[in-house]
Amino acid sequence: MSYEAYCDDTLGFTTKQLHAGYNPAEHYRSKAVPIYQTSAFELGDYDRCVRLFSYAEEGHSYVRFSNPTNTVLEKRIASLEGGSAALSLSSGMAAISNTFLNLAASGDDIVAVKTLYGGSTTLLTHILPEYGIKGIFVENPRDIESYERALTPKTKAIYIESLGNPTMNIIDIEKVAGLAHRNNIPLVIDNTFATPYLLRPFEFGADIVCYSATKYLGGHGTIIAGLVVEKGGFDWFNGKFPRFESFFNDYKNSIPNDDLRKNLFTKRLRMVYLTDLGSHLSPTTAFYLLQGIETLSLRMERHVENAKKVAEFLAAHPAIKEVTYPALHTSEYYDLAQKYFPKGPGAILSIRIKEGKEAALAVLKKVRVFDYMVNVGDAKSLIVHPASSTHFSQTEYEQQAAGVYDDTLRLSVGIEDSCDLISDLRQALE
Ligand code: PLP
Repeated sequence: MSYEAYCDDTLGFTTKQLHAGYNPAEHYRSKAVPIYQTSAFELGDYDRCVRLFSYAEEGHSYVRFSNPTNTVLEKRIASLEGGSAALSLSSGMAAISNTFLNLAASGDDIVAVKTLYGGSTTLLTHILPEYGIKGIFVENPRDIESYERALTPKTKAIYIESLGNPTMNIIDIEKVAGLAHRNNIPLVIDNTFATPYLLRPFEFGADIVCYSATKYLGGHGTIIAGLVVEKGGFDWFNGKFPRFESFFNDYKNSIPNDDLRKNLFTKRLRMVYLTDLGSHLSPTTAFYLLQGIETLSLRMERHVENAKKVAEFLAAHPAIKEVTYPALHTSEYYDLAQKYFPKGPGAILSIRIKEGKEAALAVLKKVRVFDYMVNVGDAKSLIVHPASSTHFSQTEYEQQAAGVYDDTLRLSVGIEDSCDLISDLRQALE
């Protein structure tokens, strides 16, 4: 091969989503990424086994730890994101929970905003506290002093979503990243609703990005998957992360130190948590995800174009009390959307129905093109009532803090013909 697109970092996003991280010459020149459907790999001989298990040699032994199909996926998302390393996990929640466990231990806390996906809130309010890790929530996500007040000497990370679920609220990432770094802790962002095509959080100071790849990255509603990407180079030796320091000391004689230092978060995530908690993505699902990523930029452009049209239609409709979509001039997040989302602030919007809950439920019954489903980020358009589904386990106070009321519907606008989406909503509302 005279030109090796798989490792050329100067290529554009759409070229990289098709080629990055995969060299056919290393896989019998198969043009599609092969699915290594095996539980384990031959170790070869004793010496190689020792090298693999001490991580002195890169390779694969058992698929709970790594698999070549997943390795391509991990390199591809790291390339698209502008990060140094990535890990593929069995779901978005696996990506988020393993990230929190990697960062914090009993006695530590994580500072987060209230406007999170329901599962992430539950993790921070109910599950992790049982293991001594506390979630502390900032009062006002738009006020940087609120974050400052929430931090304690034991805070190990600030956690936000680039587009909140379901109200698509936007946080000033640069300001929060600055505060995190002044306090020697990383900023972790769930970038699920934006994808690296609409926003690359590392460019604004984030250190770790989590994905529910179940959504736009997969793109076709066929898989459950999660990804964690590391920017690389965070100073884990600043005194706040002794567990990272001892991990470094454990492996500094077997792994090249530059690599270990730069990708310390991902290596520890894989070698400690993925290895022994066991939530690696299956190679077949990694393959489906790679297929989805191949068309990410094209789909996102169409998603955003449709979402703007649908939002404008809904904003002018007399049955609608409120549309929350940051590309609308009326949105309180309009200015932040211009700054962080020049290509458009995603394709999820929430609406409140003027006549209340019963009228909202009637819309769910009447839609014909939109499907009543809890998922988002499918190529197909979806609609849901968050209070009785995605945010069901939360108290009314927590729901309202996340912008969820009993008359709220969340729409995930797909890539169908926009006129069909608008006429479907028109007949359902009327
Ligand atoms: N993060 C966000 C923003 C989500 O919307 C979801 C699920 O809807 C998750 C994380 C969890 O992802 P998964 O369902 O893949 O575990």
